[in-house]
Amino acid sequence: MTTPAHGELTVEAVRTRFTRWLEDHAGDLARFRTLPTEVDEVFASLSRLQRLLHEAGWIRLGWPEELGGLGGTVVLRGVVSEELAAAGYPPPFSFGTQEVLGPAVARFAAPDLARASLPRLLRGDETWCQGFSEPGAGSDLAALRMRAVDAGDHFVVTGEKVWTSWAQYADRCVLLVRTGAPGHRGITALFVDMDSPGITVSPLVAMTGEPDFCSLHLDEVRVPKDRVIGAVDGGWAVAMFVLSCERGVAAWQRQAWLRWRLGGLVEAAPQVADSRVGEAFELVHALRLLSRRTLRSLAAGSDLGVLPSFDKLLMSTAEKYLFDVALEAMPDTILFGGGTEARDWRNDYLYSRAASIYGGAAEIQRNIVAERVLGLPRE
Ligand SMILES: Cc1cc2nc3c(=O)[nH]c(=O)nc-3n(C[C@H](O)[C@H](O)[C@H](O)COP(=O)(O)OP(=O)(O)OC[C@H]3O[C@@H](n4cnc5c(N)ncnc54)[C@H](O)[C@@H]3O)c2cc1C
Repeated sequence: MTTPAHGELTVEAVRTRFTRWLEDHAGDLARFRTLPTEVDEVFASLSRLQRLLHEAGWIRLGWPEELGGLGGTVVLRGVVSEELAAAGYPPPFSFGTQEVLGPAVARFAAPDLARASLPRLLRGDETWCQGFSEPGAGSDLAALRMRAVDAGDHFVVTGEKVWTSWAQYADRCVLLVRTGAPGHRGITALFVDMDSPGITVSPLVAMTGEPDFCSLHLDEVRVPKDRVIGAVDGGWAVAMFVLSCERGVAAWQRQAWLRWRLGGLVEAAPQVADSRVGEAFELVHALRLLSRRTLRSLAAGSDLGVLPSFDKLLMSTAEKYLFDVALEAMPDTILFGGGTEARDWRNDYLYSRAASIYGGAAEIQRNIVAERVLGLPRE
């Protein structure tokens, strides 16, 4: 595969070149349409897909050249993930991480750290995880307690994280720790090597039956100070930026995938009621329009404020609704079916239940909209 993604970097030019590339390489790419059953094999297969896309240049589009990218705006990353989903391929494993954590490292890490680490993530040489939540610090993230003690040229970190998605495969972690006073002003973001002595990773099995996330125990882990992302005690800004990225290209990728799943539902269950499909289409399309606005604002460098809370709310509503309709239309397949297709519908249905929890629970988004958009009182 040698077709480079170089050339004119307009949205339409990239879309045309990428869809043509997908068609030209359909034979080589066919093996990625159906994923293996074992999680380890899924991970390996999606990493191979990522390397292919990186080799051909597609994954480098929309990232700055000094960080291993090919330039162009963030919208190009959205185009690549959208066309990949529309052609029926799964998103490479670290697409989500790239879009959620990659921009934060690009923006807040020291240039040397960003230059050394981001290309490895884009190439699929390594994956990262997001160590934010703790027992007792989920929605109330500012209550986090993992302690980082200043020891001169490094911090000594001790404590527990939970719900860290796919940490068992991760090479690095963007970790929030307490370096100062209680509350959001005493938090620092660190870029931690997951093979550092003192880190224990324990997979947790979700209701899909897969070890989707892990708990992390850190026992006096040494983290050099050049691994601070942003400023010491300035980790809240990094955390808020990460959460806004979850509503940027990552949300756009999700809506592209939901559109593709909706098409698959109509094919798999043509008897599904028109009104239910219509409503699912409306929700997914409304999400697409909101997400497009967010992407364009990101590309223009605008401050999004609290608006992406609407994207997050609509994303979880659309995702849950779509898979509710799927369950109604194909109860036997989803509840009892064997084979990879039934398994994928079942997993996607179960995972959709989490859409209103991860990345900021729906109730919290409603609070934000109520207080900061509608001006309602805090209590
Ligand atoms: C699939 C999945 C993947 C995840 N991956 C990661 C990851 O990679 N890294 C990571 O750090 N975390 C991850 N999380 C954790 C996620 O960020 C938290 O679950 C989420 O922030 C909610 O926190 P909590 O689970 O502690 O619930 P709580 O904060 O205890 O909330 C419990 C319930 O109370 C409601 N609630 C809480 N406070 C209020 C309030 N003030 N007003 C109204 N209602 C309220 C919540 O909305 C929720 O319904 C993941 C979670 C899931 C489900």
